[in-house]
Amino acid sequence: MYYILSMEIFKNKDDLFKNISFLKGVGPKLSKYLKNKRIEKINDLLWHFPYSSTDRSSMVTLNKLEVGKIQTLKVKVKKYNFPRIRNLPNKVICEDDFGKIDVVFFNSRENYIKAVLPINEWVLLSGKINYYKNKFQITNPDYITSVEKIDYVKKNIAKYSLTEGLNEKSYRKIIEKVITNLPDLDEWYNEKTLKKFGFKSWKESLLKIHNSETKNDVNNIYLRRLAFDEIVSNLIVLSKNRKKFKESKKENKNFNNSLSTNILGNLNFKLTQNQEKVIGEINNDLKSDKKMFRILQGDVGSGKTIVSLITSANVLETGFQTSLMAPTSILAKQHFNLAKKIFEKTQIKIEILTGKTELKKRKKILEKLKKGEIDFLIGTHALFQKKIEFKNLGYIIIDEQHKFGVRQRMSLAQKGGKNCDVLLMSATPIPRTMMLTIYGDMDVSRLIEKPKNRLPILTYSKPEKKIDELVEIIKKELSKNNQIFWVCPLINDSQILNYSSVANRYKWLKKKFPSQTDILHGELKQEEKDFKLEKFLQKKTKILVSTTVIEVGIDFPDANLIIIENANKFGLAQLHQLRGRVGRGSKQGKCILLFKDNLSKNSIQRIKILKKSSDGFFIAEEDMKMRGFGDIIGYQQSGEKFFKIADPVNHGDLFIYAENYLKEIENDNLDKFNFLLKLNDKAEILYTKND
Ligand code: ADP
Ligand code: MG
Repeated sequence: MYYILSMEIFKNKDDLFKNISFLKGVGPKLSKYLKNKRIEKINDLLWHFPYSSTDRSSMVTLNKLEVGKIQTLKVKVKKYNFPRIRNLPNKVICEDDFGKIDVVFFNSRENYIKAVLPINEWVLLSGKINYYKNKFQITNPDYITSVEKIDYVKKNIAKYSLTEGLNEKSYRKIIEKVITNLPDLDEWYNEKTLKKFGFKSWKESLLKIHNSETKNDVNNIYLRRLAFDEIVSNLIVLSKNRKKFKESKKENKNFNNSLSTNILGNLNFKLTQNQEKVIGEINNDLKSDKKMFRILQGDVGSGKTIVSLITSANVLETGFQTSLMAPTSILAKQHFNLAKKIFEKTQIKIEILTGKTELKKRKKILEKLKKGEIDFLIGTHALFQKKIEFKNLGYIIIDEQHKFGVRQRMSLAQKGGKNCDVLLMSATPIPRTMMLTIYGDMDVSRLIEKPKNRLPILTYSKPEKKIDELVEIIKKELSKNNQIFWVCPLINDSQILNYSSVANRYKWLKKKFPSQTDILHGELKQEEKDFKLEKFLQKKTKILVSTTVIEVGIDFPDANLIIIENANKFGLAQLHQLRGRVGRGSKQGKCILLFKDNLSKNSIQRIKILKKSSDGFFIAEEDMKMRGFGDIIGYQQSGEKFFKIADPVNHGDLFIYAENYLKEIENDNLDKFNFLLKLNDKAEILYTKND
């Protein structure tokens, strides 16, 4: 059953969160189409902005028709022409005092046509004008209405991106009803803030944005107001979550570094000062009676793993269990092997659990974990989706967590249990200006310095037409027993995109290096990917042609050359990550970027930055300045967009102001923002304590 909502739909502002099917005229079919556009609640409609407008205001007589233009006509229906042959369209001949036009219908029933276009009646039509066989036509008009509705049709109409099953007419009915009935909300900002940016109220801003007369660019004050709303609500949620963390007490971990000191003594390198500092920060958290929720950021190769293992040793010393999770089973295995080696002479019992672990073994591991017979569990992220019972889990480390959004972080933090400290590690450098916005719920540690023995990767650029020269370069690398990554943006050739594909390049290389070349991309099954990576790791293959799927974090000690085709296609931060996959051993790593012939000024600038710097944080800042923020953290990958409207590049001033604003209000009562959080879909990511 569907409600018929009257003009008072927003008597109660909470009606905004009702399902769209509560709106008159939105049945199951329309609901489904809207759902494809991610519109489920009435509130969702508000955030789906028009991108331009359609001008139906030009009303003309039939001697003033312009082919290709959208025009609105007032005509009299004269004659039906319904052919009896299938596939021929139905036609209706209409006229005014100045001329004639054919109204053509494909896939329309005669009854419908007769109903909307009764003979000898005047009607309004609006649509694009065509010319066919010496006659003017209007095909499937966008609007056919009675003459009284002239004001409704003859205007500039906001244009939304619509999907299959939705046309302007039906969408307009819905959105206009909602927009014209928006509730008045109490202002949540103080006068000073409103004045500073010239903000109008929430309601007025939305009204203006959905009005076809407003030009919706990122800098209009209405959009900026809503962007600011979004930034503020994001910061508030993170801040609230952070506070809740700080309030949750845990049993503190008392260790005297005996196990970790022992391990450090057996390493064949010395920790960098930066690593020592970070370990200190983590140790303090572990020892405190507040739960740790910390992110360790460090460029690829900065040595995060050992930080996690040393701090794990401290936790293990206290008798708590520890768990280290990686995104893939190969990386989990590398961590496992390293941990086994490091803890070799100790009593610590370590196990690995991945999707590949056979059922029998898995069962046994789970039993032992529950009984506390395993101290240290290493596995894949996916494990955390499932239920695993520990006897007394005290520390979870999540490696390469760049694909986690706020929501997932929250659920993770809750899963570990009362005494569990949480450390996330990420190689995705976030510009400093964005830290609070993205990780405002966490404490942050950073590894900036790299181990001294690390040679910076040499970065070269080459035009694609010189691609043949690479064959010699590859031969040389192979003769030195080195391995090569070759990255292309596409899996298969595309009709539309002029980028190179893995499939094509693989064919080309396979001819030249038949037994040594392999191919890898995201469409392969996980097991197949793992198998290929394993083969590469064991050096059974030497050249791996791949999309960007090669996981961050895996150590391929002999991979020293990476070639990246259509390097223009990738963001700086991404290129930096890709090149970080070579040169992780002691040998010199090299990266060759291939470009199409004509490099824009912008591209030249980008290559310069990459050649000059090996500092991921610096590169991320530059990348953000040049391309915007979305690319840096990989929106597409993360599956969770941080912002619908706000854009850190164009709204930089709002981000900076919002951070200070938050500091000002943080200790006041934030309740007046509750509705704002709901409007921005943030309310459900608030952390709730589990003790
Ligand atoms: P990432 O931060 O990308 O996870 P890893 O932890 O995998 O980096 O470290 C990369 C390599 O650097 C490893 O082979 C590790 O043993 C080595 N390494 C880590 N710390 C140091 C150090 N202080 N001195 C020398 N080598 C180190
Ligand atoms: Mg790593």
